[in-house]
Amino acid sequence: MAEIEYTLEQKRDLKTAVPGPKSRELAERRGNAIASGVASSVPAYAEKLDGGVILDVDGNQLIDLGSGIAVTSVGASAPKVVENVKNAVENFTHTCFMVTPYEGYVELGEKIAELTPGSFDKRAALFNSGSEAVENAVKIARTYTKRSAVVVFDHAYHGRTNLTLAMTSKVMPYKQGFGPFASDVYRVPMSYPFRDADGITGQEAAERALLLIEKQVGAENVAAVVIEPIQGEGGFIVPAEGFLPTLTKWCQDNGAVFVADEVQAGIARTGKWFSSEWEGIEPDLVTFAKGIAGGMPLSGVVGRAEIMNSVHGGGLGGTYGGNPVACAAALGAIETIEEWGLNERALEIEKIIKEELGDLAESSPIVGELRGRGAMMALEFVEPGSKKPNADAAKQIAAKCMEQGVVILTCGTFGNNVRLLPPLVIDFDLLRDGLRVFAKAIEEAGA
Ligand SMILES: *Cc1c(COP(=O)(O)O)cnc(C)c1O
Repeated sequence: MAEIEYTLEQKRDLKTAVPGPKSRELAERRGNAIASGVASSVPAYAEKLDGGVILDVDGNQLIDLGSGIAVTSVGASAPKVVENVKNAVENFTHTCFMVTPYEGYVELGEKIAELTPGSFDKRAALFNSGSEAVENAVKIARTYTKRSAVVVFDHAYHGRTNLTLAMTSKVMPYKQGFGPFASDVYRVPMSYPFRDADGITGQEAAERALLLIEKQVGAENVAAVVIEPIQGEGGFIVPAEGFLPTLTKWCQDNGAVFVADEVQAGIARTGKWFSSEWEGIEPDLVTFAKGIAGGMPLSGVVGRAEIMNSVHGGGLGGTYGGNPVACAAALGAIETIEEWGLNERALEIEKIIKEELGDLAESSPIVGELRGRGAMMALEFVEPGSKKPNADAAKQIAAKCMEQGVVILTCGTFGNNVRLLPPLVIDFDLLRDGLRVFAKAIEEAGA
């Protein structure tokens, strides 16, 4: 595994309580300037990030097990990303690709087509956010199929714009009060092995969903089936084996476009470039964002040329989509993943997480399950002796970790999961330190 060089010592170090005085001062200013609907999970304000360390404004070094929600997989100041961004900025910050095109956009399109599953002819289009990518995938699928229905799943998260909120499942905090939402979006059951009836196979779970689609939507009306191959915000739900291939086959047989929303699980997060690869599926369209550009805002849709090219000229785009600086960052991030072997590192991280937490998953009465793939693992917390979701435990444990300088995030429809999304470049000893703080908090909460 490649040696990674760090600019901050990879060590947890608390100089003050978290938040410290400077962070508290900023929080007060924030209260008078920033809308309260924008919330933050971490009470400390950032000064510098490197590897798995967040240095805050009070000089505390926190362990980052969240990567700004699966974004800074290559680190938040990866040398190759920083260098590319500096060079790009000196040449030009913006032209709008729809006005004056540039090479970086084209090069990233070429690269992403190589990295996504399927050896068929592909085309790509670039945007700014994950939501925008998903929204565009739907526009493209509707144009290609001349149909309008969009099928999504329980526990899905696809974004916060109006159409993607219709596709997102959880009401609080994402949807509450923001409707009415876009129409012709239909939700069917996910494969959720921990909560499904015992023994139901992936294929059976898919057939359960497909029967509902056929009876309640009509196969001939379905433009797209959109799914996260491993669900993110919904609780790091890995569907049972066979679920995804049964869905892709149905789409093929019924002329619907299969869209894999890889915004969270893609770009080396699970130990493969795209999580679709774990089941060998070849999505018609793939959406990507979060991990692609080392923290710069960039997203895109890539997939079958005949589908992507079905849209009329000028039908896709946006002022900032595929910004030149963000494209340069993405090319740097991809190079970093390759050079530092970050797919292999993601698998090593999974091994370490299992070593540190695997026993607890067996012994703690409040741990229902440890699941996930690569550096995308979560613990689902339950009431002792049942599968009843225990959101309080997840919240308490995350807060306790925060106090001790370990940043971890909760997730899940029921709010009862703690998810681990460390930067793939995290130092392994630092990771173990963070996991041990986490394990201790779990033991105390379950005692
Ligand atoms: C985060 C996320 C989105 C939305 O991305 P934004 O950049 O926040 O708009 C869409 N789909 C999935 C699977 C995500 O995890």
